[in-house]
Amino acid sequence: MSIDLMEIYNKLLKLYDIPEGWWPGDTKFEIMIGALLTQNTNWNNVKKSLDNIKSANLMNPEKLYIIPDERLEILIRPSGFYKVKVQYLKNLLKWFKEYKFSFEKVNVKSKNELRSELLEIKGIGKETADSILLYAFDKLSFVIDAYTKRIFSRIGLNIKNTYDEYKKYFEKNIPQDLIIYKNFHGLIVEHSKKFCKKKPICEDCKLKKLCNRNL
Ligand code: SF4
Repeated sequence: MSIDLMEIYNKLLKLYDIPEGWWPGDTKFEIMIGALLTQNTNWNNVKKSLDNIKSANLMNPEKLYIIPDERLEILIRPSGFYKVKVQYLKNLLKWFKEYKFSFEKVNVKSKNELRSELLEIKGIGKETADSILLYAFDKLSFVIDAYTKRIFSRIGLNIKNTYDEYKKYFEKNIPQDLIIYKNFHGLIVEHSKKFCKKKPICEDCKLKKLCNRNL
């Protein structure tokens, strides 16, 4: 079944009053850390960790890179899996240090080069890499998550259920526009949480006329 992604995007955009760009964070660095900490937990827990880091006046890559692991563990404990996440965070910061902790220096490289580099870092999978690329480095790299697969497989998107196939499909069928990339992922998350849950609330869903599950 062919799906008009932009029709869905526009319907969702009317439905949810999201901030432009969607991902929360005062700085690019905060967004980068949040993208890693959100692995296997919900955003409320991530927010507590980010607030702890800010309250300790450590929301800065140089400072965070040199603080002892034990201190960082305490700060990010609310995000869960904190021991392993500290190691992942330090791995990411070590990579960032090669660019002298400069977003401008990183941004000189192409999306594909950066994606390969990020995927080589232990602890950074495809979803985290794409979140960092899109929301922290403004690279056109669409983020796929379990919500995306759930909504679009239910709607009737008939492609292989893999990260790469979904990513390819979205990147081929939506405009190459940063705001659309950023908002679309956010809208998918919002809609999955409100309607297209594990047990979907189809009666009240504004996508139901387009959705295979209701045909
Ligand atoms: S109609 Fe139901 S299954 Fe389809 S997108 Fe809406 S909530 Fe999900």
